[in-house]
Amino acid sequence: MARLQPAPNSLFGDATGPHSEAPGWTAHDLQEQRRLVAMHQSLLNACGTPPQREVWDPLTQLIYSLCSSRTKTPESHALLRALRERYDGWPTGPNSWDEVGWERLRDAPVTEIEETIHMATFADRKAPQLKATLEQITARTGALSLLFLANYRTAKIRTWLEQFPGIGSQVSAAVVNFSSLRRPVISVDGHHQRVSVRMGFAPERSTPRQVEDALMRIVPSDWQAVTMDDHHQLVKLLGQTRCTPNQPACFACPLVELCPTGSSKIRHYPAVLQSKY
Ligand code: SF4
Repeated sequence: MARLQPAPNSLFGDATGPHSEAPGWTAHDLQEQRRLVAMHQSLLNACGTPPQREVWDPLTQLIYSLCSSRTKTPESHALLRALRERYDGWPTGPNSWDEVGWERLRDAPVTEIEETIHMATFADRKAPQLKATLEQITARTGALSLLFLANYRTAKIRTWLEQFPGIGSQVSAAVVNFSSLRRPVISVDGHHQRVSVRMGFAPERSTPRQVEDALMRIVPSDWQAVTMDDHHQLVKLLGQTRCTPNQPACFACPLVELCPTGSSKIRHYPAVLQSKY
């Protein structure tokens, strides 16, 4: 199998949402785009540029993303290490995006897979989903590989991936953006969803897909796949450290002046917040 090289974005100008100058673009969209850019810059100023991601082949990214949802990052890394060690899931060439053989994982008993990924949240649910997904990919394509996806447009890849058990918009976005496919899509996990809603980019109770659509509508057209990956990592970090589910630390948040939720809190309860943080 030929080695897969990361695809240049310019070949695929097909992000999932419209950019500025798209039909229906409004003054409000422009205002929100400026706020998104200011948010990104504030996070870069506060946290620095995220470390460069180790880019994997699409199948390894899919396995990782499926198993790691709602699981802390150290446990997620540990479970991929455990899977690689037990099922020999290592690249066949010198690059992490070379072909990786996951047939032994596909053919393992569900109970054994569950035991291997026990550190994942909902391991009992994910193990059968993972096995079924790997079996169904093999049945549909004749081989356990996703390298062929490099030939398809982003929307088609995502629709194709989302037909398999356990693969929703979050996993499909991670596969197309984080893996060697490197397409311009913002991956929205639980942290990103919460921060975006509090920032007012999407209405309350928006699903990750709805948040993604809202962000992709306003994302600047010069944001490449790597910028969107950086943005995801920065927002996720904020969600883990400041904009936590139960007690957002607005007083210590670098986005407070851009955030309607935080600004309103500071305006109404400055004394309480200052004594708390
Ligand atoms: S100001 Fe508060 S609500 Fe807004 S993003 Fe920061 S922590 Fe979250």
